[in-house]
Amino acid sequence: MTPLQVLRDVFGYDAFRGHQADVIDHVVAGGDAIVLMPTGGGKSLCYQIPALIRPGTGVVVSPLIALMQDQVDAVRQLGIRAAYLNSTQDAGSRRDVERAFRQGDLDLLYVAPERLLTDSCLALLDQGQIALFAIDEAHCVSQWGHDFRPDYLGLGLLGERWPDVPRLALTATATEATHREITERLGLGQARHFVSSFDRPNIRYRIEPKRSAKEQLLSFIQSEHAGEAGIVYALARATTEDVAAYLSAHGVTALAYHAGLSADERRDVQRRFLRDDGVVVVATIAFGMGIDKPDVRFVAHIDLPKSVEGYYQETGRAGRDGEASDAWLVYGLGDVVQQRRFIAESPADDFHRRLQTRLLDAMLALCETAECRRQNLLAYFGEAIEPCGNCDTCLDPPATLDGTVAAQKLLSTVVRLERERRQHFGAGQVIDILRGHRTEKVTRWRHDELSTWGIGADRSDSEWRAVVRQLLARGELAIGPGGHGVLVTTDASWAVLRGEVAVALRQDVAVARGRAKKDKAAKAAKAGASAAAAAELTAEQAELFERLRAWRAGVAREKGLPAYVVFHDSTLRAVAAARPTAVAELKGIPGIGAAKLEAYGEALVTVTQGTVPSVTPA
Ligand code: ADP
Ligand code: ZN
Repeated sequence: MTPLQVLRDVFGYDAFRGHQADVIDHVVAGGDAIVLMPTGGGKSLCYQIPALIRPGTGVVVSPLIALMQDQVDAVRQLGIRAAYLNSTQDAGSRRDVERAFRQGDLDLLYVAPERLLTDSCLALLDQGQIALFAIDEAHCVSQWGHDFRPDYLGLGLLGERWPDVPRLALTATATEATHREITERLGLGQARHFVSSFDRPNIRYRIEPKRSAKEQLLSFIQSEHAGEAGIVYALARATTEDVAAYLSAHGVTALAYHAGLSADERRDVQRRFLRDDGVVVVATIAFGMGIDKPDVRFVAHIDLPKSVEGYYQETGRAGRDGEASDAWLVYGLGDVVQQRRFIAESPADDFHRRLQTRLLDAMLALCETAECRRQNLLAYFGEAIEPCGNCDTCLDPPATLDGTVAAQKLLSTVVRLERERRQHFGAGQVIDILRGHRTEKVTRWRHDELSTWGIGADRSDSEWRAVVRQLLARGELAIGPGGHGVLVTTDASWAVLRGEVAVALRQDVAVARGRAKKDKAAKAAKAGASAAAAAELTAEQAELFERLRAWRAGVAREKGLPAYVVFHDSTLRAVAAARPTAVAELKGIPGIGAAKLEAYGEALVTVTQGTVPSVTPA
């Protein structure tokens, strides 16, 4: 069979995407490949199809032990003969898998790296035929990355031991440095490189000023994602617990996930997220790698991420199915102060502290940009694009206004406080002085005698905080050492004070009053968009779609599978639109390959024809 025939027959898809066809041809012919593709780009097919075409078993190295069962279940649904070897397995089932491999009865074998590198496993592999090695999540080999797995360093030996077996390394991490490390450490100097665009056009990027993160989050979920699956990232364990409890109290199915939970508890959260509909997980960054749930409709950040790279990885978990999804972030001045403090207090050496500062600065620049968010994000990965039309700044361009005078007022106040030396002050005191607020602290330090007292009464507290944030992001103001959030001037401050550079401020944050209206307008636009998507189905078709979903839920329960492993929403929607009267009419519907046609074809037609009284919506 040709790769295209396999794609159509086994997977039920019509055409390859991006580099898939090239990668597959190259590997089928015996070549090594490094595949950089964004999450949801379709990496799995790049090794699954060559494994089906080449003689022998495709060995897939994956660090995600907790997900192996799901990965295997999903491909088995397609009629692919797959199994896994990892530490969660009892001796009996391990022996069965080993026997199946030796006899050539497996198309795919998933193995955890620490298991693969044992003598007994290497010996086992010598006793069967290997079609290829696929090293998934290959960025785990990078010692500087946050997902480093020491066992990955040993995988270089695969090429030495089996020089004739093609190897693929796959990852969704895009930076130059990681790319280079993968090439070197996995001994893939001869490999062809397939680098895709990292754009995820179906994800709408939005960044808003933080007022009350919990309430903003709840309102975002209730108004835009009620009943849908999502991930909320926070920095601290306590926050994840608190926010999950708050969401639950307001009717959202929300679970906390962090490294403080036991392995069993973590597995349980992961399982519920994958299997139940509409679960929101509130997590630290420990959650999510390799979660291949296609219908995560939003990823929210309620604390400022430490780097653009991490942020992009995390938001990439939304919308793997290609349907409209949101990446939503709120951040405020407090986040900047906190992150700077983390860096100042970290035990790292100077070099790493400077590195962390640079990463954070890039993140702040993304938050404060008045230009296309996606342009800014992709530029970080060396990719240039036109304004995207699907981010907050494209959809609702913030006007910038000349904030030079405001910046000068603020900076001169900071300069005056710096001169006092005895005591250091944070943003609160600076703003109280500018606004002429006679607080106890102002009176005690006689700050009402400063020449800048009251010169900023025309701006609200939150407007001034926005000015502080933007100046921090531009490097024209800094947080002093010591971790108390003290504002200090920088060399760049003086250029502003001397009037040598103009400061353009984003108006949407500078003029907080206009915001309520804008929120409403954005919401209306969004509601219009989803109404249009729903409008693709007539009322009758939509009713059928719901019946198909109810049927799918029953099948998934019965088989102990996540619903999306049975069929994706998009497949059911296509079935509802086609209203087949015979099994043959299901051929060619995306996501229905030969095995699923055989297993579910009759049932789909029966549900469509409305003759099954037994299916009750759950
Ligand atoms: P990745 O591992 O790169 O994140 P996956 O391999 O999980 O992505 O694929 C993401 C989704 O896209 C899956 O639901 C997959 O079935 C689907 N997909 C992959 N390739 C194609 C294709 N050529 N046509 C249609 N759907 C595809
Ligand atoms: Zn944009």
